[in-house]
Amino acid sequence: MNIPIIMLHHIGKPTGAGLESWSITAQKFSLLLDLIEQKGFTTTTFEEISNGKLQDYANKVILSFDDCPNSLFEFAIPELLKRKMKAVFSIPTAQIGGFNQWDVTEQGFASVALMSAEQLQYLSSLGMEIASHGKHHLRASKISAQQFVEEISASKQLLEKLIGKKIYTLAYPYGEVPENHQQLLKDACYAYGISIYHPKENNFALRRIGIHQSDTSKSISFKLGQSYQLMRIFLDPLLFLLKFFRA
Ligand SMILES: [Zn+2]
Repeated sequence: MNIPIIMLHHIGKPTGAGLESWSITAQKFSLLLDLIEQKGFTTTTFEEISNGKLQDYANKVILSFDDCPNSLFEFAIPELLKRKMKAVFSIPTAQIGGFNQWDVTEQGFASVALMSAEQLQYLSSLGMEIASHGKHHLRASKISAQQFVEEISASKQLLEKLIGKKIYTLAYPYGEVPENHQQLLKDACYAYGISIYHPKENNFALRRIGIHQSDTSKSISFKLGQSYQLMRIFLDPLLFLLKFFRA
């Protein structure tokens, strides 16, 4: 697809144990958006692409937020709106209005509130894309293909009913992509699957660029460029072998 896809989780000071690696400060987020603007990039969504609304793929970037913490409404979302930027928000549907139960039980992370149904409807009405992050945020490697299909189908159905629009995109929980993902996603009527590292990129396993608190103006600029995208073609098969993924 050749559009850089940024992966983000929490914006603002980490509110509890374990969330540090998945948080960037408001300042770092502003720096990312500043650099996007300085490079002359504009934001788009998979929804816009699927609807045929995107004529030109040049100088585009996709911002994606996994898990949908409620706290994104404190700084990140107002900042996006101020800059007329769009983003993709993916949520595990069993936890709409709930909390990051998978982080808490599996990894002992602090509990954070996630967006409510009304907040997701509001985001959708603003032109933001709502995506599925499965139903229970399960690892594809730990469940059967049948369970995976149930997860992605039930969450899609629920979100479509909730926002009254088609859902196009799945953000794989933990970035884990099952082997026969292309067929499974096609059968469940998804158009895109967003992963993290993947050796063979395709529309159902798109690579994403993580932005971390340790990133600088220089490293973010590099990550937004063509050379980084090219580097990932060679880097991802190695990282995949090392099973270096988590979302
Ligand atoms: Zn997640």
